[in-house]
Amino acid sequence: MYSKRLDNLPPYLFAQIDELKEAQVRRGVDVIDLGIGDPDLPTPPHIVDALCRAARDPANHHYPSYAGMKEFRDAVAAWYRHRFSVNLDPETEITALMGSKDGIAHIPEAFVSPGDYVLVPDPGYPVYRTSTLFAEGRVHELPLLEENDFLPDLSAIPPAVAREARLLFLNYPNNPTAATAPGEFFDEVVDYAREHGLVVVHDNAYSEVSFDGYRAPSFLSARGAMEVGIEMHSLSKTYNMTGWRIGMACGRMEVIKGLKQVKTNVDSGVFNAVQHAAIAALTGPQDCIREASEVYQERRNILVGGLRELGFRVPLPQATFYVWMGVDNGLEFARRLLNDAGIVATPGVGFGKYGEKYVRFAITRSADRIREALDRMRGLDL
Ligand SMILES: *Cc1c(COP(=O)(O)O)cnc(C)c1O
Repeated sequence: MYSKRLDNLPPYLFAQIDELKEAQVRRGVDVIDLGIGDPDLPTPPHIVDALCRAARDPANHHYPSYAGMKEFRDAVAAWYRHRFSVNLDPETEITALMGSKDGIAHIPEAFVSPGDYVLVPDPGYPVYRTSTLFAEGRVHELPLLEENDFLPDLSAIPPAVAREARLLFLNYPNNPTAATAPGEFFDEVVDYAREHGLVVVHDNAYSEVSFDGYRAPSFLSARGAMEVGIEMHSLSKTYNMTGWRIGMACGRMEVIKGLKQVKTNVDSGVFNAVQHAAIAALTGPQDCIREASEVYQERRNILVGGLRELGFRVPLPQATFYVWMGVDNGLEFARRLLNDAGIVATPGVGFGKYGEKYVRFAITRSADRIREALDRMRGLDL
């Protein structure tokens, strides 16, 4: 009944975890869910107010423009200039997205022909792989290994693959490993992309969730980056707006143009009222960003401190709201946590085979719940 394309998709592990979690909940277990990559903090009130005002204005009830309102693109350009010292032309170098997932899911349609290679980090956000498969491209995994600080080794890509590669997905600060990339790495990426004529898509969803004074760079601030690629960005993680579905793709004009061409045929843009709210977010007070990072930083300290006391070797992440921990068998470990302690953690294999020996904790639950989770873990023989 289903297409070959759908049948070829890997099983969606997260749906299976949800089922196991639901079974525990039905049994009456007070489940602590550290599986969710979704901020538990609310959207700041000034952004909600902007949405409410805009929703009442009938002028916003029509089809939006495909690329996003001029005022939205201007706000994005101003935010990029201010935050990253990156200059973008709002006419040609920015388009609105229904969240960055929208951009990631559709970009291969514009640049990948059947059989072309796409370079995909493993472990990685699952949509890089599925969007490649939907475009009938071939996935070439870039292992993100601890000994390389979870950066891909571009020199290890076979020349035959590089020749037929069209796209390179990257994501720093990284989900799921929580790794960050030094600026020099992006320089190396630009050189590699130039040499092999491929389009770089950097997913910067977590640039604003960072700790201990660390500030994540934009890929677009690397020299030459604007000639080789784009950056997907989103208000989801930055302003606790995952449910609102708004993000942006920024960068090389021709790449933005290709993405817009696909999307024009797929969706009809982001609700203007949501764009007004996004403008309020991008141009309004930015204290909410720092405040959220402070909350996550405290939780990170509690979780990493507790896990280390339990004898685990776990790095202290500088960004993202994830803790990526090496274990013997991530799937088995996650199963035990859920069944014996009522804790949801995500087995690393859900992000690719190089994640098999890891679990990911999301610190999107309160400090008290994280302490409670650690107490329960102390009761297990892990
Ligand atoms: C959350 C996330 C996204 C998607 O966010 P949107 O809500 O679609 O903007 C994209 N990439 C990574 C790595 C993420 O973790």
